[in-house]
Amino acid sequence: MCVKSQFCFDRKGATLYHARPMQKVKLPHSVEPTKSAMKRSDYRGVIVSKDMERLSEAVVRCNDYVDAEVQFEKDAQGLTVFHGHLATQVTLICQRCNGELDYPVEAEFCFTPVQGEEQESDDIIPEAYEPVEVNDHGEVSLLQIFEDELLLSLPIVPLHAESECTVKQDDMSFGKIEPEQERQNPFAVLKELKRDQE
Ligand SMILES: [Zn+2]
Repeated sequence: MCVKSQFCFDRKGATLYHARPMQKVKLPHSVEPTKSAMKRSDYRGVIVSKDMERLSEAVVRCNDYVDAEVQFEKDAQGLTVFHGHLATQVTLICQRCNGELDYPVEAEFCFTPVQGEEQESDDIIPEAYEPVEVNDHGEVSLLQIFEDELLLSLPIVPLHAESECTVKQDDMSFGKIEPEQERQNPFAVLKELKRDQE
């Protein structure tokens, strides 16, 4: 009860604050692409990044909102497509200096809904379209597929730009050619022993 009212209060506060000056509308988490395409729906809004649990776990921090634009339409072949753009900013850990790194994440997408694997193999889907399976009600989870797109857009090895990183490239190469490390290699010693016995 207490948690619920707190949650409602927060939501209301956020809506009031953001809806008026910035016109941020929250996108539905789930849509019926075919219906939306008939209506030629065009969504511009945000998704609350806290709802994307996998993304939240993959980064240090994420902006409160993911900006999203998505247009639903029928293409020349009559296929339903929905395409658009996602943008947000996350904080990652630089793999060179272990410091925090602000990283803008952007993703372009173009999906076409398919029902089961059968349709996916029978129909000719242009390569530019990414098939996305609808559930029994003809719906897709925008939340889930958008989260996937953002996760795929994260760098595999996040690194600061060299000028902004506290560890310089020179330090890196100096560390690599340290001769003592080679002497401590146990296999090198074994090799020496073997050679002596021969
Ligand atoms: Zn760095």
